[in-house]
Amino acid sequence: MSKKRRGPAVADPKRLTVVLDFGGVLSAGHDPVPDVQALTGGEETAVREALWEHRPGYDLGQLSPEEYWGRVAAAAGIDSLSPEEARELQIADDRYFLKLDPAARELLHDLARNGVRLVLLSNASIAFGEAVRRADWFEAFSFAIISGEEGVAKPDAEIYRILLDVLVHENGGVSRPGDVIFFDDRADNIEAARALGIDAHLWPRNGEQPPAEGDAPEHGAQIARRVLRARGVPLD
Ligand SMILES: [Mg+2]
Repeated sequence: MSKKRRGPAVADPKRLTVVLDFGGVLSAGHDPVPDVQALTGGEETAVREALWEHRPGYDLGQLSPEEYWGRVAAAAGIDSLSPEEARELQIADDRYFLKLDPAARELLHDLARNGVRLVLLSNASIAFGEAVRRADWFEAFSFAIISGEEGVAKPDAEIYRILLDVLVHENGGVSRPGDVIFFDDRADNIEAARALGIDAHLWPRNGEQPPAEGDAPEHGAQIARRVLRARGVPLD
């Protein structure tokens, strides 16, 4: 690498792992409710309430797709939901979240082209985990940790320990939390990761940057590029 580099020494980029959250970081948006409500009918407010109220249980693998979507549909006044209808709702939700933010996608391409190890760490249902692994861009990732599959979700320290354990296997027995650069759109997830020594950074939720008083707020992908360059991660 360049001998002209100034500033603090950077870790060997080959040892680094970039870990990305999905919702609000890779996804373009964070509100699947209109797409879901288009199928269920009913009042959007009621559908929204049920969808988010039961989501943590669904993302912990405690509810089956039929149970989860049954509760959402019940809020729209639907008494019983067939497995096919539950699947349709899941597909609508998957399709919504799988629309990637263009700047995030560009960052993924740059990281993948440079052979940087990428990991997905998402609070999501088992069903979404399956959909994510079928996505065209997923081959850029080494693996995904999905809360529904693990039965534990961020910001519980346990899910970060699972991540570090898997990395130990990937890296032949070594995994230093400081070599893991993690981006997430929730401050509590960042705090929990930092408590374990992970190099964690807030990515302002895509599409929900606070209204700027002056300049436009910085996009999460821009923040990530700045952090990654400072760590010596190749992006060109
Ligand atoms: Mg998120």
